[in-house]
Amino acid sequence: MNSETFTKLNKLSSEARYPGDILLQNQLLKIKEINDYIKNTKKNFKTSSDHRYQELLCHSLKITKKTSPYIFKGISKCANTLGIDIGNVEVFICASREINAWCARNGEKILIGLNSGLIDCLDFDELCFVIGHELGHAFYEHHKLPAYGICQSINIGSSRILKLMSWSRQSEISADRAGLLCSNIDATISSLIKLSTGGLSDPVVNVDLDEFEKQLDDIDKFIDKNSDLMYTTHPLNPFRIRAIFEFSKIDQLNSMKNKLTIDDVNKQIDEIVEKMNPSKIKKKKTSASKDEGNNFHPIDAYTAFASYYVLSADGIDSGGKELKSLEEIVGKTLTDIAEDAAENAFKQAQDIRASKLSKINKAMKCQTLEKIIAVSRADGEITKKERDHLGQICDDLGMNQSFIENILKFLD
Ligand SMILES: [Zn+2]
Repeated sequence: MNSETFTKLNKLSSEARYPGDILLQNQLLKIKEINDYIKNTKKNFKTSSDHRYQELLCHSLKITKKTSPYIFKGISKCANTLGIDIGNVEVFICASREINAWCARNGEKILIGLNSGLIDCLDFDELCFVIGHELGHAFYEHHKLPAYGICQSINIGSSRILKLMSWSRQSEISADRAGLLCSNIDATISSLIKLSTGGLSDPVVNVDLDEFEKQLDDIDKFIDKNSDLMYTTHPLNPFRIRAIFEFSKIDQLNSMKNKLTIDDVNKQIDEIVEKMNPSKIKKKKTSASKDEGNNFHPIDAYTAFASYYVLSADGIDSGGKELKSLEEIVGKTLTDIAEDAAENAFKQAQDIRASKLSKINKAMKCQTLEKIIAVSRADGEITKKERDHLGQICDDLGMNQSFIENILKFLD
């Protein structure tokens, strides 16, 4: 590529970051507890990342022009595309058959690890997508908000956990866009598929992009019917694929087809994100709840009783932290009502589901379950007993148990 192409891509990569990612990251960084956590862990972080770096130097092969001209060429292409100084990028080959890559910071340095199993199964353009994706996390400064560490270490409350999870999904959209700019749409989709199938490719798995697009065309119906899939951290996440597919249609990348601007694409993605956002559930007014002399939506009442049931699995903590996290989601009155129900909470939840929630769609079930998980996880852990009760709620809603695992995978 000539320098003019790189200048154009540099500009595009700065504009490509998904606005929802920027907005949520800024909101989360303003929260005092999160800010304090980041300040307090700075020193420890430096020590542990120095340690990690030293370990890499001892045990993993560092990629240079001499050790692997092939991979080095990919790294240079990606760094140039994103306008990152390649002097700050150090890439290591990690001896593992797992199809995986990661990115970390060590001061100014951007460290990237590529597992040998990953390198084996990708061609050059696919490798560029993966390197570009990882560099994208660094380029958009996602490391400034260490979501995983925050969830592990501090009690930030259930509504903020939901926000962190939502941000984490949206940050992947930005990183995928960076990856695409370093590669092309065919290689992007095929590497996402290889990442999710453990490296299978032709002739076992055949990717026909037109077929794939047909599959994604029904996205609205698809979200309502299969929305649990949208929450998966799995690379073959329909939400991610849909998002990167739309982005590949912008006119800067594709001068003849659809003439979409980045803004057009962002608006489409906003709509999908909105459907997954638990705080924005659209509730139809039901007369049923008013009959009982209150204005609670049955889904809120269900959330309250079900969450209480999960929290009470091993006794409610005396400090009231667990109930506070429930209050944050459903309010004080419903929390009190659930507390009064005590050991009848699960029965009450089941009754509400059977009588008033028989027709709720899968999207709402997912959001409800995500809320209940966030409430139970707000104190920093989910015990074995709580996990069992969560499983019962999952069954009650007719959801697959793997949904819980997908959400918890992010938190643990
Ligand atoms: Zn990522």
